[in-house]
Amino acid sequence: MKRETKLMHYGRTATPGPANPPIMRASTILHDTVESYRATKAARATDDAVLSYGRRGTTTAHQLAAALADLEEAEACFLFPTGVAAVAGALTPYLGAGDHLLVVDTIFPATRSYCDTVLARNGVEVDYFPWDTIDLSDYVRPNTRMVLAESPASQSYEVMDLPALCRDAHDRGLIVATDNTYGSSWLYRPLALGCDLSIVAGTKYIGGHADTMMGAVAARGPAVDALRRHTAMTGQTLGPDDAYACLRGLRTLGLRMERHGENADRLVAWFQTRPEVAEVLHPGLPGHPGSRIWARDACGCNGLLTVGFREGFDAEAFVDRLRLFSVGSSWGGFESLAMPAAPDSGRRFPRPDRGAGQMIRFHAGLEHACDLIADLEASFDRA
Ligand SMILES: *Cc1c(COP(=O)(O)O)cnc(C)c1O
Repeated sequence: MKRETKLMHYGRTATPGPANPPIMRASTILHDTVESYRATKAARATDDAVLSYGRRGTTTAHQLAAALADLEEAEACFLFPTGVAAVAGALTPYLGAGDHLLVVDTIFPATRSYCDTVLARNGVEVDYFPWDTIDLSDYVRPNTRMVLAESPASQSYEVMDLPALCRDAHDRGLIVATDNTYGSSWLYRPLALGCDLSIVAGTKYIGGHADTMMGAVAARGPAVDALRRHTAMTGQTLGPDDAYACLRGLRTLGLRMERHGENADRLVAWFQTRPEVAEVLHPGLPGHPGSRIWARDACGCNGLLTVGFREGFDAEAFVDRLRLFSVGSSWGGFESLAMPAAPDSGRRFPRPDRGAGQMIRFHAGLEHACDLIADLEASFDRA
């Protein structure tokens, strides 16, 4: 069955019943007998959909987790209250004092902070490698346990060769996790490309309406058990209201992604014609670092693009004049956004050919592309 069709059917229960599953709120789950209580506790050790106690999620969260596991081609998927909590939850089960973690240099900045502060304080050694690495020999140590990737890169969208990287990492016995928030369980399937863990900030496209926080870690193979135990022991789950909002968001994920992608393409093509613009970063552009790999491994792009303006152009004043684009953190909602970007700041291997002008990251929302372009054009006109 095509994924577009599956999106309409996730969470369906017996008929007669609601088309969209209702919110189930619960902490305590009641049993009539001790035997039933004990059987439930035994069953939940291996079955993540067993309703046993609110801390293990209610049926609403289980339905969302099952849908995401299916989209990610995973054996299991675990939910977290935010994307950053999911990043932490994907790393800590596998790392202890004295272990070494390799992180791609182009990682999401909050993930970098987590590695450099919390993990480092707990005795995990952290090193960064360039995004185009497919042979880890220069970076591994005897105590290396895990590799954390993100593709395309945060803010600059370099595309990693995940199949090649995973082959090399697995030959060395390493676990590979990838932040798949860009692909959001729709455009890109890291587990099918060889990764053990795929992390998604559902706050972005899965929620899709700028009103919900969520994180998910999908896993397959030997990584699953430790992740399952860790999420249970650390009390990580997603509340039923947020799970409901994400299940509802999933119904239109495919449609929304199509429009976000089309609008971003229109903006990319248009920005490239402007004399004020020095460079446009977008993984769909021919010549963009790794764009051939993206074309091979993914099915389309999302609404993000980053524009580097010519030196001396006041890009922040340009953003202030926009009416349809607001300034704000995050992305993946229906709304258009513009934010100052600094993809190279804090990196060990900054882009060699970066320009000196200001950079803005745009998120193309679901407005009509003609209106977005008219808004941008009006701001250029007033510069
Ligand atoms: C937004 C984001 C996160 C964190 O998600 P939150 O829900 O904001 O905590 C993690 N990784 C990437 C790539 C993101 O874009």
